[in-house]
Amino acid sequence: MRIVVVGGVAAGLSAASRARRLDPAAEILVFEKGKRISYGACGLPYLLEGQVSSIDELVVYRPEFFEKERNIRIRTESEVIAVHHARREAVLRSGERVRYDRLVWAAGARPSRASSAPRVFRLHTDADALRLLEFLEREKPRTATVVGGGYIGLEAATALRARGLRVRLFHDATTLLNREDPWLTKLVAGRLEQCGVEVRLNERADPETADAGLVIDATGLRPNVEVLAEAGAALGRTGALAVSERMETSLHGVFAAGDCCEARHVVTGRDVWIPLGTTANKMGRVAGANAAGRRERFAGVAGTSIVRVAGLAVAATGLSQQQARREGFSPVEAVVEGRERARYFFGKSLAVQLVADRGSRRLLGAAAVGDDGVLARINTVAAALAAPMDVETFAGIDLAYAPPYSTVADPLLVCAQQLLRLLDH
Ligand code: FAD
Repeated sequence: MRIVVVGGVAAGLSAASRARRLDPAAEILVFEKGKRISYGACGLPYLLEGQVSSIDELVVYRPEFFEKERNIRIRTESEVIAVHHARREAVLRSGERVRYDRLVWAAGARPSRASSAPRVFRLHTDADALRLLEFLEREKPRTATVVGGGYIGLEAATALRARGLRVRLFHDATTLLNREDPWLTKLVAGRLEQCGVEVRLNERADPETADAGLVIDATGLRPNVEVLAEAGAALGRTGALAVSERMETSLHGVFAAGDCCEARHVVTGRDVWIPLGTTANKMGRVAGANAAGRRERFAGVAGTSIVRVAGLAVAATGLSQQQARREGFSPVEAVVEGRERARYFFGKSLAVQLVADRGSRRLLGAAAVGDDGVLARINTVAAALAAPMDVETFAGIDLAYAPPYSTVADPLLVCAQQLLRLLDH
């Protein structure tokens, strides 16, 4: 049995490792087109900001670890350019043909637009970050324009501002972070402005012509599907690879995981494309297990995410009110502002939003903005969405309290009470 994995980061290496654990005898081969494997792209903004001192700190395991400890062969700088599934064969750019019994496609995503302009940068790969750092040190630009108000754009703006650049952020919609929540955008944009980032909402800027010492193009991603699509694998409605709950593509014996494929949304039951690192790891484990002959299923996603923007923690899970409406629910929303912990423990403010369906009273989503306490609140809601749970049940859950950590009436439960009142009217 030979399992070939394409992509040597989160999803690919989780798949390879899990397959090895379940099948000690299989031959497992990973092809990665870049120079590095197993690095956390999530840490790149902190490398840019200077909190992480070298790219090596972001590398979790080196190829030797996989070779020696897990008996997994790693081939870097090896791009798979074609798959001939009828012959169970992957073709490398070098022309080499590699036979497989099972294939795991974990090729990730890439920025939607390419650019060769010398002062336009992306923050997607290790190579992007190194090129950007080198430019910053060599050219010492004083101004930066960031195009795109998703989480990568906001992390990049934060990092460049922390390095002392004058930063302008353009976003072509009225709300940030792909969440149509004006209250959340107001808090996030307010914090960015306080830190000296000029935020231009509802303004389109062209990264190629923007007037600044450097430009970050953070205008979005697209999944790396072309090679597998050409081999006959079906794409879903989002344009990412369609997969079953077992992470199998429409080609029998070919699995996909991570940013290149769709996943079932736990609230709507529909297939969505929400590329995130934690999801990539979990999908990879399932794809690897099934490639090794198991029958495991991936539980789906709620789009749970958290990001730090100029010191503010911003998190969301499930559906916003607008998304819920588009999905055919009749949503009701409550937003409350409380404190993360007791005032005498310097509790900072914490804003929490909950969204529920009027008809079924089911909890549909949440967002939170504040400090460290945001994580616990959003994860609590993520668990409730997976249950799933109605607002009454949620409002009654037994959350922990002590003054250094929380408030006696947790803002999340205060918000749930408010939502109940709205549902009853
Ligand atoms: P990737 O990490 O993209 O890996 C795919 C690999 O496949 C790449 O190395 C690529 O070179 C290789 N490849 C592609 N095509 C081929 C081919 N044909 N042949 C061989 N190799 C190929 N997620 C979070 O959950 N939390 C965060 O805080 C967070 N922060 C982020 C910050 C930044 C700046 C970025 C860029 C991403 C962040 N993410 C975060 C997202 C997270 O990094 C990705 O979701 C995750 O890396 C996806 O893993 P993957 O294995 O699917 O794809």
